[in-house]
Amino acid sequence: MRAAVLHAIEDIRIEVQPTPTPAADEVLIRVDSVGVCGSDLHYFFDGHSGSSQITSPTVIGHEFAGVVVQTGAGIDPARLGERVSVEPGIACRHCRECVAGRYNLCENMHFLGAAPINGALRQYISVPATNAFTLPDSVTADEAAMLEPLSVAMWANEKARVKLGDRVLVTGAGPVGILAAQVAAARGARDITVVDTNPARLDLTRQLGPFIAVDPATWTHSPAQVDVLIECSGSPQALASVVTQLAPAGKVILVGLGPDTVSFPMNIIQEREITIMGSHRYRGMWPAAIALVADGAIKLGPLITDHFGLTETGKALRQNREHPTSMKVIIHPNLATKKKDRQ
Ligand SMILES: [Zn+2]
Ligand SMILES: [Zn+2]
Repeated sequence: MRAAVLHAIEDIRIEVQPTPTPAADEVLIRVDSVGVCGSDLHYFFDGHSGSSQITSPTVIGHEFAGVVVQTGAGIDPARLGERVSVEPGIACRHCRECVAGRYNLCENMHFLGAAPINGALRQYISVPATNAFTLPDSVTADEAAMLEPLSVAMWANEKARVKLGDRVLVTGAGPVGILAAQVAAARGARDITVVDTNPARLDLTRQLGPFIAVDPATWTHSPAQVDVLIECSGSPQALASVVTQLAPAGKVILVGLGPDTVSFPMNIIQEREITIMGSHRYRGMWPAAIALVADGAIKLGPLITDHFGLTETGKALRQNREHPTSMKVIIHPNLATKKKDRQ
């Protein structure tokens, strides 16, 4: 099979590798769609994402979907031919966090596509059968690849317990930010505002729900009107510019990957009893994510802007970084090349 292997900064090569054989508890998947994530761009352009470094050749890609083409000895062969979306985090199930039911914080997490663990930018991958979720016909492979960022957005809303009537502010109108706004709307939030400096992203946000989408520079607003701030930009400036918006007892949930340190006005946190929370990936989101997309409560299709084949992986990553209208890029590992505007 062919795989896109990242060797070093901006050095990705298409190589032939042996097709994996599924272990007893695994299924082999033909990968049809892989979404490009901000972390993939960090690996490609910076050589690392957070603290994970590219130290040896690695196949990146963790947002993916495909078809089961082989089952391990312990798996019901009835799963052959099933269309599936894969949760890429494989938890150990025996560490302290796993035993406590917090598997997203697993101390031994094996996360596909997080260096040095190989991910999905290849024709075939084997994964534990329990990580491969069956899709209804109404959810496309491209949408199914996006269940991963949707799960990030759902988990952030879940952690912040966004509820009926909450006034929600989202900073950053990338895929996760727009999805966080859609999820907040599905949970009954109101006055959902999304701030970003990219006009194309603000336009797209407006098309996807009753959202106020604004550039922070031109935003006029009264302070202390936000119950939940979902930070999806990773930009300390974005965070600092909206902190005064937090209402008493407001919550801040951090989703975007930013710099290590950020300055924050402590008096506001103190006087308004603000809670600041981290949000790490997700747990237990896939079944609900599939249902929300199948029901049309969450729209993923409009976020998908570009399609590429496996040999165009480098081009796909550059397109996503350089083009302001590029939102979610999908790579199709079983196609060598792909016309940009499919359908
Ligand atoms: Zn991702
Ligand atoms: Zn664990």
